[in-house]
Amino acid sequence: MLSFMDAKVYVNRTLNLRKIRYLGFDMDHTLVRYHSRAFEQTVHDFVLERIAARGYPAEVRELPFDYDLAIRGLVIDKQKGNLLKVSRHGGIRAAFHGVQALDFSLQKKMYSSTYIDLRDQRYSSVDTAFSISTANLFMQLVALRDRNPALGLPDYETMAGDLMSAVDACHRDGSLKARVRESLDTYIIKDEAVVRGLERYRKHGKRLFVLTNSDFHYTKLLLDYAINPFLKDHKDWSELFEFTITAAQKPRFFMDNLKFLRVNPQDGTMTNHDGALEPGIYQGGCASLFTRDLKLDGDDILYIGDHIYGDILRLKKDCNWRTAMVVEDLEDEIRKYQDVAPIQQRINDLMDAKEPLELEQVEVLSQEIDQGLQEHTPRVQELQKEIATLDREISELIRKHQSQFNKYWGEVMRAGNEESYFAHQTERFACIYMAKLADLVAYSPRTYFRAPRRPMAHEIQARD
Ligand code: IMP
Ligand code: MG
Repeated sequence: MLSFMDAKVYVNRTLNLRKIRYLGFDMDHTLVRYHSRAFEQTVHDFVLERIAARGYPAEVRELPFDYDLAIRGLVIDKQKGNLLKVSRHGGIRAAFHGVQALDFSLQKKMYSSTYIDLRDQRYSSVDTAFSISTANLFMQLVALRDRNPALGLPDYETMAGDLMSAVDACHRDGSLKARVRESLDTYIIKDEAVVRGLERYRKHGKRLFVLTNSDFHYTKLLLDYAINPFLKDHKDWSELFEFTITAAQKPRFFMDNLKFLRVNPQDGTMTNHDGALEPGIYQGGCASLFTRDLKLDGDDILYIGDHIYGDILRLKKDCNWRTAMVVEDLEDEIRKYQDVAPIQQRINDLMDAKEPLELEQVEVLSQEIDQGLQEHTPRVQELQKEIATLDREISELIRKHQSQFNKYWGEVMRAGNEESYFAHQTERFACIYMAKLADLVAYSPRTYFRAPRRPMAHEIQARD
């Protein structure tokens, strides 16, 4: 079992687990993890077959899959055929057109402002691990269209729409799920530590439930495979979880008034459910009925999910449940922090050396203007040279630092000196976050997660 000494939960807002009565779990990529490279490759192959069958040229079948071409948190600009990395304030910090990186001057030509409004329909976020293949496919199609205009591929925005509906259809029509069923080992990760932790939480009187957008049959397939083999105090996952709510249509589950259907676990058939909820398996429904029937306040419940929009953001805004987010990418990212620590230190040292030179430069230039001098003094030239030398070294080090993470995009949680937009949303809407569910349940169900004091810019500067 994972010890809490090795596990890591990161705290944005103080959370006392003792006060939590119900813990709810999203299934895909939370309760059950995927071998994402294999799964997204399969989506890629299925989608290309599908669009070729719908009249796209046969060449699309040959498009390669490069998993690293997209990371979580990027933004697809459907109109321009670009993929963007955006900072916490919506500033573009890196961009690709097709499979080609855009340098800053090209980027500036394409975007009159370096800040974009992410509410605009032309943008679409890569905000779950399930969207990696979509971003990949789009970039490859854009590159193919630019390379070979004679193929007659439609405009970028039409291609984005076609791709998204093909990805959606693969998820919905059962074809992808049938492939997972044939080869569970290839796609699904089993994690005994999760089951050990959950049974311990039950012993401490915590009530557990599943709330997933997957349908009953797929939920059963994955939970039979990933949970049942490790159960000690229960015979079946349906005993471990007091409620299992399938096909929940999150985020609508959190906002709308939808009715629950009762699922018969023997054959998956459904009947209308009237009256108060009782333990069992359901389809659909909504948060307001759930909390009303169980006589719960929003903050009696902690919900753990992986999708910032579907699982976390609406839930926090509309229901006031406590939220925990699984950010799978963190595992790799944090391990690499140690490798890059010497590079980061050197960057910090050079920045410290640069700062007084820049201050002096401003001062000397201002004096020149104050005194009405027509030519620069030798000192200005010296300072310019020294700063340029430092800048070259810093740029080289930043490239080296980035290359230790995703080779195209660098870190998931950072965009240069700022947090990435994705990191910013995680911070705003998730009370706590961690790389995987096993990290959370390694902690005692009585844990008090205390948020660290966050210094503001003026406090940091006043201390220096
Ligand atoms: P959850 O994470 O447990 O709520 O469930 C995610 C479900 O949504 C899985 O069954 C996925 O196959 C499905 N899914 C993921 N992306 C899409 C999509 O683009 N369209 C339809 N279903 C999707
Ligand atoms: Mg999920």
